[in-house]
Amino acid sequence: MTRPFAAVIGWPVNHSLSPVMMRAWLTEAGLAGEYGRVELPDGRAESLFRALPELGWAGVNVTAPHKQAAFAAAQTSTDAARAVGAANLLTVSPSGDLMADNTDITGIAAALREDSGRSPAVLIGAGGAAGAALFHLARQDREVTIVNRTVSKADALASHYDRPIRTTANLDQALTGAGLVINATTLGMHGQPALEPDLTHTAPEALVFDMVYAPLKTPLLSAAQASGRRTVDGLTMLIGQAVPSFEAFFGHPPPNIDMKAILLTHLGDAP
Ligand code: NAP
Repeated sequence: MTRPFAAVIGWPVNHSLSPVMMRAWLTEAGLAGEYGRVELPDGRAESLFRALPELGWAGVNVTAPHKQAAFAAAQTSTDAARAVGAANLLTVSPSGDLMADNTDITGIAAALREDSGRSPAVLIGAGGAAGAALFHLARQDREVTIVNRTVSKADALASHYDRPIRTTANLDQALTGAGLVINATTLGMHGQPALEPDLTHTAPEALVFDMVYAPLKTPLLSAAQASGRRTVDGLTMLIGQAVPSFEAFFGHPPPNIDMKAILLTHLGDAP
């Protein structure tokens, strides 16, 4: 029997931590399997997706800018992938169909384990990652405000749900009384402008979650800690979204190892 093979596809893809996680889990579990990375520019991934059954690959993880194309290429999809209109996981069924899933939602749920699920939530951003976060929040009976530079994109995201969701470009106003704050923009990433709002008007027990993980301690998380708010960094989501992918590719849940410590060492950020 051949060794199952899977890969991450993106443009660029060199920064992806998926190979680090998948290979560490494969080694620890003693499983025969391989995981690679494939760099393909926009518009060139579709032919690879279509060829997956013929190539005999177990599937692929998909990162920017191919998540929408991956969803469009699949014959079947999960509710999560359909709600977001984007897939970060494609697997090949025994009959050769491509199946699309969005496991960012699993990663977000893992990151928000300490969240009450009830307090008013502020979601900053209206791109693909924000769409996944909104899917998670919309399953909860809570007040949600989407804050985005381009309000029309926030409106488009909110329109997928049959419930009131506020949209605005005014972050400071939205933060008043918030019990959960999520950054799903690129703000705060290395080389991007910082996101440093005044968090003093959020609820004192507020949880602040930044999806950005490079750097791990973003200006938003530093501001949250300085205001005594609880924080969650982007690595918890990253690991959480990789778990179902590993299981789908290699037919085995990931072994229980300290993946966060492995990633911190890899990033040169170990304590
Ligand atoms: P995306 O679809 O390109 O969306 C980008 C978002 O950032 C949009 O809301 C955009 O606002 C906003 N934005 C970009 N530059 C801005 C600026 N200068 N000022 C204000 N807003 C700005 O990206 P994505 O795929 O959703 O990813 C968003 C973030 O989530 C990235 O940092 C990514 O690394 C992170 N992420 C993390 C994980 C994880 O596992 N931790 C997983 C997925 C994504 P406009 O709509 O106005 O352009």
